Amino acid sequence: MTVKRILSEKGGNVVTISPTASLADAAKLLAERRIGALVVTGAGDRVVGIVSERDIVRILASRGAAGLGVSLTDVMTRKVVTCEPSATVSAVMEQMTAGKFRHVPVLDGEKLTGIISIGDVVKLRLHEMEREQIALRDYIQTA
Ligand code: AMP
Repeated sequence: MTVKRILSEKGGNVVTISPTASLADAAKLLAERRIGALVVTGAGDRVVGIVSERDIVRILASRGAAGLGVSLTDVMTRKVVTCEPSATVSAVMEQMTAGKFRHVPVLDGEKLTGIISIGDVVKLRLHEMEREQIALRDYIQTA
């Protein structure tokens, strides 16, 4: 199973935010869209970072309410781990495990074409396990 296949089902929409936005802006957008991470894009829609709810918790814990005014340029993770649409879901799971993060933006060349979350991966694995179980049961019943 490839990333492209997951995106064909869930769509390629990615919620992005400008690096000049504040932590409060990011928190509001995450809450409104009910998601856990925002891809930070700069000129020409280029990916320049990622900010997740964990970053917000970290800044609030260290700076208190004053942290809400901090610019995302000072908060976001700049070295974003991405994958290509042709990547396998197993490879993305390995990226998430190795990097201890739950979101991987999908880049087709330079173009942002989607995002895979750990929720998408778990959903897919559950479907695969259910299909395997049904196939095994059918096999046992007809053997
Ligand atoms: P998450 O588990 O996705 O909420 O993110 C945990 C931490 O990893 C946060 O500091 C994020 O900014 C960072 N992060 C999330 N996704 C990525 C990614 N694809 N590449 C690099 N860092 C990431």
